[in-house]
Amino acid sequence: MSSHHQVLIIGGGTAGIMAAAQLLKKNKKYSIGLIEPADTHYYQPAWTLVGAGTYNFDKTAKPMASVMPRGVHWIKDYATAFDPEKNTVSTKSSGDHTYDYLVVAPGLVYDYSLVPGLGEAMDKGVVCSVYTDPKHAWNVIKNFKGGTALFTQPTTPIKCGGAPQKIMYLAESHFRKSGVRKQSNVVFATSGGVIFGIPEIKKTLMEVNTKKDTHLRFGHQLKKIDGENKIAWYALGDNQSEVNSKDIKISKDGDLIGIHYDMLHTAPPSVAPKFIQESPLVNDAKWLDVDQYTMQHKKYSNIFGLGDVCGLPTAKTGAAIRKQVPVAVDNISLLIEHAKKGNMAYNGYSSCPLVTDYGKMVLAEFDYDGNFTPDPKLKRMLISDSSKEHWRLWILKKYMLPYLYWNKMLKGKDV
Ligand SMILES: Cc1cc2nc3c(=O)[nH]c(=O)nc-3n(C[C@H](O)[C@H](O)[C@H](O)COP(=O)(O)OP(=O)(O)OC[C@H]3O[C@@H](n4cnc5c(N)ncnc54)[C@H](O)[C@@H]3O)c2cc1C
Repeated sequence: MSSHHQVLIIGGGTAGIMAAAQLLKKNKKYSIGLIEPADTHYYQPAWTLVGAGTYNFDKTAKPMASVMPRGVHWIKDYATAFDPEKNTVSTKSSGDHTYDYLVVAPGLVYDYSLVPGLGEAMDKGVVCSVYTDPKHAWNVIKNFKGGTALFTQPTTPIKCGGAPQKIMYLAESHFRKSGVRKQSNVVFATSGGVIFGIPEIKKTLMEVNTKKDTHLRFGHQLKKIDGENKIAWYALGDNQSEVNSKDIKISKDGDLIGIHYDMLHTAPPSVAPKFIQESPLVNDAKWLDVDQYTMQHKKYSNIFGLGDVCGLPTAKTGAAIRKQVPVAVDNISLLIEHAKKGNMAYNGYSSCPLVTDYGKMVLAEFDYDGNFTPDPKLKRMLISDSSKEHWRLWILKKYMLPYLYWNKMLKGKDV
């Protein structure tokens, strides 16, 4: 039951599996334990395409056993608590596990208490999310008969910040095909003050929204959902503004404004898992407190964090993890073998493949400073400017990235 490992990893998602695979590539003799309760590993980035009816959900799932790198001791259990002074992680049913180095990568969870009413309404009737049930999202979009199609997102950090608008662009396109666009208003409401934080990408996306005649509402902080009356309630921030206003039904309740919807898509409010929030490892905002360049915990030098659970000032994506893992792995292996850290640094790279229509995409790649940092390898795909819509980028999203994910990234290979 209990065990000791040179490296103990919590979570067998994108970050945990990549980290285990890369560590074993450095040295196949490392003893690695990985705590993961789930039977299935998902490629979540394709869920946006599932929600738009253009990708098979079953292809986004593989048995956990098939992605677990050979040589890793899979502890099929939930991590429940930490004792970092004693290098110990407790679990639900297999006792305590000790480590020399710990990698914390359990992702994030959804906390519906932050938006009352949303939990009850989610994934039922006309309320949907590609984050939680992409097949239901496609049913809602497919069966939409007109009225107000509201696309929104919570005020918390979320996975892949662009996904709530990607699904809107695809849905809008589908509404044109299905003939309901003329009797619909497509609305995007977000707490942010701009459509995207990178100027080059913002420019293209505003053009896309103009072309699609969508109504944008900035500075809208989602507060609650009234599922019975189909109203999403918002507080308005100082950054509140509207673009391309439409005649949609709005109610008022004190300082809150309510948008009446006929379908609603939202990302769920997202937080670190409870056992992380309650641990001594978090920052004030209750995310894992790691150094943003080395991925090492700020207080415990033998603990590293990777992926969505980390409190980093960049977007939570698999693309970010692709750049974080080599840094943590380099540091851990140098610490094991030479008792010193390396000097690789994670620069906050993240990317968001912004699907703007069936067959079209813009690729936002950026760093901690908000610089637009396109991958030079795109030139090999004959894409000279990835801030502009391109069909080759759609091919990258729909076909190449899933292939690279399953066959290279999860196997610890450099991509
Ligand atoms: C709709 C959607 C669209 C997205 N689009 C993109 C995109 O286009 N590009 C992109 O790069 N990224 C995208 N992402 C984000 C990407 O999928 C995540 O950033 C990435 O999967 C996070 O990896 P992770 O390892 O941190 O967490 P996850 O992959 O979520 O894995 C966490 C793992 O930890 C396990 N776990 C949880 N609790 C415990 C516990 N107590 N003990 C042990 N194990 C535990 C879970 O079972 C899970 O297997 C998208 C995500 C969604 C939902």
